[in-house]
Amino acid sequence: MIHPESGSNIVESGIVDAVTADDGKITLSLAFSKARDPFATKIKQQAQSILEGEFPSHRITVVIREAAPRAPQPEKRTTTGGIAHVIAVASGKGGVGKSTVTANLAVALRDRGFRVGILDADIYGPSQPKMFGVEGYVPDAVERDGETLIVPAESMGIKLMSIGFFIQPTDALMWRGAMATNALKQMIHQTEWGTIDFLLADLPPGTGDVHLSIISELKLSAAVIVSTPQQVAVADVVRGVEMFRHQQVGVPVAGIVENMAWFTPEELPDNRYYIFGRGGARRYAEENGIELLGEIPIVQSIMECSDNGRPASAIDERVAEHYRAIADKVVEKVVKGC
Ligand code: ADP
Repeated sequence: MIHPESGSNIVESGIVDAVTADDGKITLSLAFSKARDPFATKIKQQAQSILEGEFPSHRITVVIREAAPRAPQPEKRTTTGGIAHVIAVASGKGGVGKSTVTANLAVALRDRGFRVGILDADIYGPSQPKMFGVEGYVPDAVERDGETLIVPAESMGIKLMSIGFFIQPTDALMWRGAMATNALKQMIHQTEWGTIDFLLADLPPGTGDVHLSIISELKLSAAVIVSTPQQVAVADVVRGVEMFRHQQVGVPVAGIVENMAWFTPEELPDNRYYIFGRGGARRYAEENGIELLGEIPIVQSIMECSDNGRPASAIDERVAEHYRAIADKVVEKVVKGC
């Protein structure tokens, strides 16, 4: 017999607690670990009729009892206790600038006086080490009070732990599924984060195992969605938003950042060319009850600075202004609740 909810056999899963046969009488004891298992009565009735069919000359008694509570689990050790807020940065597709937005938002939050960390969980393209000029960093392990902790990189006052520190770019395809999620769990719970106001988690594009793992291992305060104008309405963005808003996940979506919203050439600073279309994110945001946190133009310095190991927000005042406005909105949303 199979338990309808767990799908497991009632003998193998330990529900069949004891069977006694004695003097024409069979007694079956069923033990359910859930206090009021909704399927207990049904299973009892089925067991009763199966036994009556098999042993018509016996008197059958099936009793239900509650299984002894499981031994309390030891409290999970984690280094995340000093982190006030975790904000996931997600996108439907790759290449829309999610990692760039994460790095620049981190710098803008730091400029507002917050202690900031980044967890780069983008297993398909961990680009934070390059953007912060710490490529090739090899994390050290240190002993603290009998615990082994991993020392994060630190650049521009921002603590950074990246899956990229543990894999070679050529390995990326191997680091999927269980392997990546196990490594991430360690990165989350063993990194010496210290006290942090905002930890930004740079997620892989789309929805998948890493998202589930981050959602279950960290208490997310909010999610920020990044999209380009032409990607905003595609199913992947919608799925991403739904994933966070799902009732069992319940992570508020702080809003959407429209990246590469327009292009302004250096020589024509007043001209805006909407090369990927115009107003897509604003429309999407309005239709879905999401705030448009800001629009970032295509700016050469954004790409160049990322390539040179310092996010543009730290160098180019025009870029910094956009990001500070976004940071202020995110802080307000997170502190007041989205
Ligand atoms: P994702 O994380 O979504 O895959 P990235 O952040 O790696 O995307 O960005 C993809 C490329 O686009 C990078 O080369 C980055 O420097 C560039 N880029 C991102 N946003 C902008 C922008 N607003 N202006 C110019 N280049 C940008």
